[in-house]
Amino acid sequence: MNKRYFIGGAWPYANNSLHVGHLAALLPGDVIARFGRMNKWEVIYVSGTDSHGTPITERAKREKVTPASIAQKYHEEFTRDFSDMLFSYDKYSVTYSPEHKALVQEYFKKIEQNGYIYETTNEQDYCENCKQFLSDREVEGKCPVCGKVTRGDQCEFCMASFDSDALTEKRCRTCGAPPSKRINKHLMFALSRFQKPIEDFTLKMASNWRWNAVNETKKYLLQGLPDRAATRDLTWGVEVPKEGYESKRIYVWIEAVLGYMSAGTLAAKSKGIDFKEYMKQDGNLNVYYVHGKDNIPFHTVIFPALQMAIDPDWALPTHIVSSEYINMKNESTSEEEKMSKSVGNIVSIHELVQSFPADGIRFYMILNNPERRDTAFSKSDLAQSYNKILAGGLGNFVNRNLSFIKKKFNGRVEKGAVDENVREHIRKLYDYMGEKYDAAELRACAEAMTELISYANKYYDDRKPWIQAKQEDLGDFWDTSATCLYLMANMANLFAPIIPAGCEKLLEIMSLGKPEWKEIVPPESFEITQLPILYARIEQ
Ligand SMILES: [Zn+2]
Ligand SMILES: [Zn+2]
Repeated sequence: MNKRYFIGGAWPYANNSLHVGHLAALLPGDVIARFGRMNKWEVIYVSGTDSHGTPITERAKREKVTPASIAQKYHEEFTRDFSDMLFSYDKYSVTYSPEHKALVQEYFKKIEQNGYIYETTNEQDYCENCKQFLSDREVEGKCPVCGKVTRGDQCEFCMASFDSDALTEKRCRTCGAPPSKRINKHLMFALSRFQKPIEDFTLKMASNWRWNAVNETKKYLLQGLPDRAATRDLTWGVEVPKEGYESKRIYVWIEAVLGYMSAGTLAAKSKGIDFKEYMKQDGNLNVYYVHGKDNIPFHTVIFPALQMAIDPDWALPTHIVSSEYINMKNESTSEEEKMSKSVGNIVSIHELVQSFPADGIRFYMILNNPERRDTAFSKSDLAQSYNKILAGGLGNFVNRNLSFIKKKFNGRVEKGAVDENVREHIRKLYDYMGEKYDAAELRACAEAMTELISYANKYYDDRKPWIQAKQEDLGDFWDTSATCLYLMANMANLFAPIIPAGCEKLLEIMSLGKPEWKEIVPPESFEITQLPILYARIEQ
């Protein structure tokens, strides 16, 4: 059976615009998906917008709009941003969609049938005025330590944490009425029962996962897995498929990660694939989850536990592609600082695509990806890497070759022999970069790109085709050209997962079809009819 990929990109939360941090964390997913498809392997690559939960409902209350309108606005914005960045999701879903809700309810019932859901009761704050139970976030009162008015179970001023019952003059944050106590019931997910299976599985997978994923997961497991509330009192979310729970919703931590399965099901259906069969681990399936390091336990503990609770046949993650953080480099001081709203240094994806081509952003974000440690982002570094490597390196190599043939020989390429050493070099790169793409070690691929671009330009400079073209016998010249055209065509293949737009354009100029993961030798003679600029320099 052929190799196949399932790739889940983390679901951004519909409360803020996408920025370079999201891009650094999520872009590896698209690169891997493109690489898989170029090999003609089956690929299912999904993500979606996480649209439920209290931050959105609270914001909706403040802005006097519906949570749905906020979620929809961001969902549309995310869809546009991902498309601008050339993300090739097979399905980009959203958690408020009826399809997602129906599938999550089906999974939830399965978890209950399999005996991992139980009911529990507790005494909880209730607002008679708003007619609802209040979570810790929804009450405020005077901090027992510093006396300032704060909310919940941690003081936002002195950072003391306490039971929210320790607040004095406690009141409902919405209407200000003092709450009473009522007995509330909830459904719990028996996460604790997965301690051992998750431990075993983490040990088995450790060699494939990034080190931060292994570390974080071990830390999490060491604390012991607690059972977690599966329902909460909220009206915005996925309805609980159980009588007596009409006023509650499924907790976001369960529902959002199950989006991988709901979106995967939809993507598989559109390709005529049986998703259940597809997700059975038979040794040919790579399962990648791609996200930032703050999301690790959701993908290595919680989601696998839910999957085991739903259907033990479902393949667990073989690759956890969890990036470190990207900081912002202050353009005037060159100091690195954390991305922060209050500092005002956040660069949105939408802002970036106004000034740079998607390929340029993608290349820089992969070359500078926080794979193993934090890295720093700056627009001037981006511009420099683009101008130097893509425009000045790759673009220039293509242009100096093709424009010379166009000018000197009317664009007619004659027969020549491709240098065997160069072919050997390229064949090795297919092996090397192929392994790296598959293992999600993408910085290594971007570095290999940079080296190959220098290699190609050096080959051209060493061979001096502008002198060879003056010799009576043009044999040497056409050998050099054949080799350079060969380099171009294969660079387009090798680089396409990272810089798809330019590579597709380059293959089109050479009439070579779509990028594929295999060595190609351009036809012996053909005509160059068009000569567009692959990557125009950006003036700063
Ligand atoms: Zn305090
Ligand atoms: Zn109230």
